[in-house]
Amino acid sequence: MAIDKRSIEEAIRRILIAIGEDPNREGLKETPRRVAEMFEEILGGYNAEDEYTLFTESSDLVVLGGVKFFSLCEHHLLPFFGLAHIAYLPRGKVVGLSKLARIVNKYARRLQVQERMTEQIADEIKKATNSDDVMVVTEAYHLCMIMRGVRNASPTVVAALRGAFREDSWLKNEVYDIIRPYRIGRFPF
Ligand code: ZN
Repeated sequence: MAIDKRSIEEAIRRILIAIGEDPNREGLKETPRRVAEMFEEILGGYNAEDEYTLFTESSDLVVLGGVKFFSLCEHHLLPFFGLAHIAYLPRGKVVGLSKLARIVNKYARRLQVQERMTEQIADEIKKATNSDDVMVVTEAYHLCMIMRGVRNASPTVVAALRGAFREDSWLKNEVYDIIRPYRIGRFPF
């Protein structure tokens, strides 16, 4: 899916006029073009690759904590961003850690809601690792809530649990223990 930058530029120009701004003033002249290019970059997840190489490695539990992500809330087109923490039980094979981070980006760089993004990341990791046992926890600050004062500054936490992580609460809690040092706190204000 290629985005139509020309149409975005026209639309942004119209938004600038609609909010009472002068789209021809110095600071705004290049804004429609910049916004179109920014959308192409921060919504690039739609075109992300889909191939995963597995490596033979004996490991009982793989945990990757603190993967940064930046997404756009589909209800307000404002950013939500934070950290994703990933765990899975390998079936004799593991996937590269950078691939896990890339999966997070693939689903973050779209118009999203945090709940769906978390589920999609978990399902893609299942596919990439051939494991049924996957856990993904995301923590995010939603600017649409923080900027409008709808809610206090606590992050929204969403978990997707598959297989053993759903059935075995000891295992799930083990992951929460491991990721504790990587978790985000309250928004600074
Ligand atoms: Zn929102």
